[in-house]
Amino acid sequence: MDFRILDASAFYAGVPFRSSEDCYTTSSVYDEIKHIKKNHDALGTLLETNRLKIREPSEESTKSAIKAAKDTGDFPQLSKQDMSVIALCIETKGEIITDDFAISNVAKNLELKISPIMTKGITDVGKWVHYCPGCRTNHSSGTECPACGTPLKRKLLKD
Ligand SMILES: [Zn+2]
Repeated sequence: MDFRILDASAFYAGVPFRSSEDCYTTSSVYDEIKHIKKNHDALGTLLETNRLKIREPSEESTKSAIKAAKDTGDFPQLSKQDMSVIALCIETKGEIITDDFAISNVAKNLELKISPIMTKGITDVGKWVHYCPGCRTNHSSGTECPACGTPLKRKLLKD
């Protein structure tokens, strides 16, 4: 079976509440997101119906995740919650549902499966812009800066 593993950004975007597929997360992520007031009852229902399962990564997977994050240089950007999600993904050979850049980057380097949230979740959490790290301008689309030719990066503007 496929393990769909949700990080905090997936919960904030409402992913588990509009999907009928089972999903997994870790207790540290759950502790972080259980305060989302508007989804409080929905979270309870997901747990009761076993569509959301909480599972802890082993110490060994956690060590592998930490090592991988240090290799890519993302470690300072990653919280304990983020690390637990990566570790669980390593352990279950699952798929991470996230919009977090550092998590995605580490996961990619480990050749783990990642599913960006995007689509509907965007309206809940903010909007994506393409920005130029060269001349620091924002663009609504494109892969290259029209002004200076630098490859554009994407970032989420929070509402
Ligand atoms: Zn530019």
